[in-house]
Amino acid sequence: MNNANEDITNMKQPGTVLSGWSSVAVHSGHKQDPNYAHLVPIYASSTFVYDEAEQGMRRFSGKEEGFIYSRWGNPTFREAENKIAALETFGVAYNSSPVQAKGILHASGMAAITTLMLATLKPGDKILTHFSLYGGTEELITNVLPPLGISAIIADLRDLNKAEAWIKKDKAIRMLYIETPANPTIQCVDIESLSKLAKQHNLIIACDNTFATPYLQQPFKYGVDFVVHSTTKFLNGHGTAIGGIMLSRNVEFMKTKVYTLAKTLGGNANPFDAFLLINGIKTLEVRMERHCQNAMQVAQFLEKHTSVSKVNYTGLVSHPDHKVALKQMRHPGAMLSFELKKGLQGGIDFMNKLKMCVRTVSLGTCDTLLSHPASMTHYSVPKEEKVKYGITDGLIRMNVGIENIQDILNDLDQALK
Ligand SMILES: *Cc1c(COP(=O)(O)O)cnc(C)c1O
Repeated sequence: MNNANEDITNMKQPGTVLSGWSSVAVHSGHKQDPNYAHLVPIYASSTFVYDEAEQGMRRFSGKEEGFIYSRWGNPTFREAENKIAALETFGVAYNSSPVQAKGILHASGMAAITTLMLATLKPGDKILTHFSLYGGTEELITNVLPPLGISAIIADLRDLNKAEAWIKKDKAIRMLYIETPANPTIQCVDIESLSKLAKQHNLIIACDNTFATPYLQQPFKYGVDFVVHSTTKFLNGHGTAIGGIMLSRNVEFMKTKVYTLAKTLGGNANPFDAFLLINGIKTLEVRMERHCQNAMQVAQFLEKHTSVSKVNYTGLVSHPDHKVALKQMRHPGAMLSFELKKGLQGGIDFMNKLKMCVRTVSLGTCDTLLSHPASMTHYSVPKEEKVKYGITDGLIRMNVGIENIQDILNDLDQALK
């Protein structure tokens, strides 16, 4: 009804077909503002008004398009939703038909993932997923969903035979949930093969595309049903707002069941954050090109460094998922991790010596960010758990920024001494 019904096009004006990625990133989703503002205004309004009572009736009954209440949708959210949907589907065909998608913007990546799970699963259903998940997603599937009768099997989905064996063995499996590339060892799973497997067994498949962004990887191309993002990361690109989006190529399902659920759960975005997101997305291609170029150089530098025992970057042939990454990603991304020979104290010393690069968690900003899981995010996690996820005492995770490469390398070099 109403605001769920608007067009989902990658054209700015009807008839303008954009042929290049950044043109879509800059212009898609935009509608001419009634006051002729160039950029979409921050529609800071909780409600929207009616010319007459009858118009209210038409809007509430879905006979007329228009916004009603910002938990249900808002013009600033709409622009971000349509822009991201356009990018996830730009040039994408599946089974020889062009793919269209609809997205619903959320307050956070976690809110979007929660809507996805609750919209698609019911008590008794199981999720089959890979073990290197984002911490919040793991918490959701292992602690929040089980009391609702939804549980998860966490396996190594890089082994397709094992994945198929699980699916054949457990008929309750309803969803394949993947995140690729993933924390902290930048593991990748094969989207195309897993998607085929899901279709063969009548399962739905969802992909968290946060690390890659639609510029590097478009999961809909392989038949993935749902894509989620933490827009907090590379899509926003500047670390200025928390946000998330859930998208599907099943547009009808998004407009009905998902829309109704999302507006009831209330995990909606806010107009200011949506505005920041829209402006961030416009430079995505330019930023990702630079991020990835820098990341490759950092990986090569670290691989040769005598203080470093291991580098996890899918751009390096030494990474076990190098081939899968090349197959489904334009470039290997901006995230990498590496192990310091000197372990925990080595990690702490290294972090303390950084001068330009920033000591913090998160990712997707222009600034280079480094974190030391053993002394930060995973400080209180038991050793066995850490080993399971590949978090060694000397592991450093890095979001390679867009600064001048020489300055990044200089800072790392002096901190590694
Ligand atoms: C950050 C992140 C999330 C959660 O997103 P929030 O915006 O923090 O709620 C989910 N998945 C991945 C891969 C992330 O990096």
